[in-house]
Amino acid sequence: MQGIVYKSTGSWYTVKSDEGSFYECRIKGKFRIKGIKSTNPVAVGDRVVFDLDKIGDETTAVISEIKERKNYIIRKSVNLSKQTHIIAANLDQVFLLITLNNPQTFTSFIDRFLVTAEAYEIPVVLLFNKMDVYDKDEKAEVGYLAQLYRNIGYHCIEIAAKEGDNVELVKDLMVNKTSMFAGHSGVGKSTLVNALQPGLKLKTAEISGQHLQGQHTTTFAEMYDLSFGARIIDTPGIKGFGIVDMEQYEIGDYFPEFFALKSRCKFNNCRHLDEPKCAIKAALEVDEIAWSRYKSYVQMITGEEENYRTDIYKE
Ligand code: GDP
Ligand code: ZN
Repeated sequence: MQGIVYKSTGSWYTVKSDEGSFYECRIKGKFRIKGIKSTNPVAVGDRVVFDLDKIGDETTAVISEIKERKNYIIRKSVNLSKQTHIIAANLDQVFLLITLNNPQTFTSFIDRFLVTAEAYEIPVVLLFNKMDVYDKDEKAEVGYLAQLYRNIGYHCIEIAAKEGDNVELVKDLMVNKTSMFAGHSGVGKSTLVNALQPGLKLKTAEISGQHLQGQHTTTFAEMYDLSFGARIIDTPGIKGFGIVDMEQYEIGDYFPEFFALKSRCKFNNCRHLDEPKCAIKAALEVDEIAWSRYKSYVQMITGEEENYRTDIYKE
């Protein structure tokens, strides 16, 4: 039988079969996934093959195979021999919630998030939340930001989760897909999930405000079916993705608008910093590339951001 892992406790895995029944499965022997040494071989979102073993009266379900992952996100433990925990696999998209204030979401945070998601091939939809509380100037600022990111190719939606405004548009994007919600604590993730599926509470919220980065806290993700044919993965303690295990020269390739122009730079290994005849700097001068994006890029490439770890990973 085949199915998808909805929950894991470390030794037991809840798998929903393609027929729609849930099975509590164990794993058989040791799995070795090429290229990654993790504390958990099977993660939420994994597509697995499992068999029912009948011993006497008891039937046990045993996972025998993990299908190839299209992507996965990890948490790396900094203080414990770089142990890696796979948080979730096979994400179709991540919704990044953004608010101008309470809390403030900086463009440097958005850009770092987008770069990492690009690197690991996870589509991101930007949700500008709390539109109901913004004054005229703030609305204009959101409009500017949304247009900036739309020009690059990102889907942006202005919503008010609390009022239900544009929540239908989010719903439409979620049908038949596995999604995750990200963003700073307080941006409205739980409120949005509640608007999508009244009664469903995120674990994310319970530990919001606490920085789990680097702590040896095993946080297990869990998948939920929503009534309109969508799946969400709730990942306690994950607010964003760091960038690590990424070579300096690669970073520019994950800014899609830089990547599109880089063949026009004089040097094919141009870092777009102080090299002559750089197409990215030229585009910047004529406002075809946003200064905020370039600033984020420079911060990342010169290591001015403190953030050097990986939360998200793909071979
Ligand atoms: P989370 O930490 O990302 O899960 O954020 P919450 O969903 O707990 O929301 C944090 C606060 O923002 C709560 O007081 C919500 O009521 C409020 N909030 C969330 N969405 C909206 C919105 O669209 N408009 C307004 N005015 N407040 C919101
Ligand atoms: Zn260049």
